[in-house]
Amino acid sequence: MMRVRPGYMSSFRCLADRCTDSCCIGWEIDIDEETLAYYESMSGAIGNKLRENIEKQKDSAYFKLTKKERCPFLNAQNLCEIILELGEDHICQICTDHPRYYDWMASRMEEGIGLACEEAARLILDSPMALESEGEEEKEGSKQELLRERYLLAVRDEILERISKATDYKELEQKLVQEVSKMQIAYKSWCEKHELAYEGPAKASILLRSYKELIKRYKELEINQPKWRKLLEEMEEDPKLFRDILYEKNENVQSGYRHLLYYFVYRYFMQARYDDDLVGKLRLALYSIRMMEAQDAYIVSQKGRLTKWERICNYKLYSQEIEYCEDNVIAIADML
Ligand code: SF4
Repeated sequence: MMRVRPGYMSSFRCLADRCTDSCCIGWEIDIDEETLAYYESMSGAIGNKLRENIEKQKDSAYFKLTKKERCPFLNAQNLCEIILELGEDHICQICTDHPRYYDWMASRMEEGIGLACEEAARLILDSPMALESEGEEEKEGSKQELLRERYLLAVRDEILERISKATDYKELEQKLVQEVSKMQIAYKSWCEKHELAYEGPAKASILLRSYKELIKRYKELEINQPKWRKLLEEMEEDPKLFRDILYEKNENVQSGYRHLLYYFVYRYFMQARYDDDLVGKLRLALYSIRMMEAQDAYIVSQKGRLTKWERICNYKLYSQEIEYCEDNVIAIADML
């Protein structure tokens, strides 16, 4: 099976106790069936502690978080007691995977690391925009599935190449917005020519809203962390929230937005094979970058400058709120 991933993925190492924002705090940690059976069979003190801290429901099980919303197995040094006592092979699947994501296609498997993790965010911003692959392509799906996949991969790879070669983010954004309708129509015609089902959208456009209008729309989405709601409210009230000021004072942000766009297009564009909505995938990518820009602009407005660390914190907060909530991802892709 061909395996594709961003070149930086092999450099990823969890920061563990050096992480300022452990993914074992504030998130419900689901326990997969196999791991649950293992934990239930454990004897001794660790077995008792495991069983005492698992909440079982009809079809699922998860760890009961402490009052401070910490995983009960995260020790005072922010290290995982299960790894320390039982080894890395005995943590739940979700803990093994996070922050990695996987997409199994008919011809290949693609993987990456998610922006919600601060070390992943740093690598996404700092590393070359390039993919690497190993293994041979497979043909596991139907002929139609493989045909569609090949077409969409070609479109996506062309977009990725343009992102990696562009120098001006604003120009790139404008061009993509102008071309999406043509891209969707070309795909529809191609489906018809090859007698493939087409369920794509009737309307194919992307509206580049002002920061304020976009914030208003984001406030209507599902909000998980109070700090995200507070930030959106403060940003909405800020009279100095302007893109020009952000770009003038921070030349390097443009390159950062290209890296983020590359990440979003790589991660989400191929989901169009399920709904034929190419424009929706680009909408999700472009609106996301614009919203993260607004977060950066807010820091510049408040402090008169923007550090790399503040940018990383902005992007991971965005990702935690949006990417880790499927309803929000769908709502942004559909946001007309
Ligand atoms: S957020 Fe990333 S670096 Fe931090 S604990 Fe989780 S995986 Fe490790």
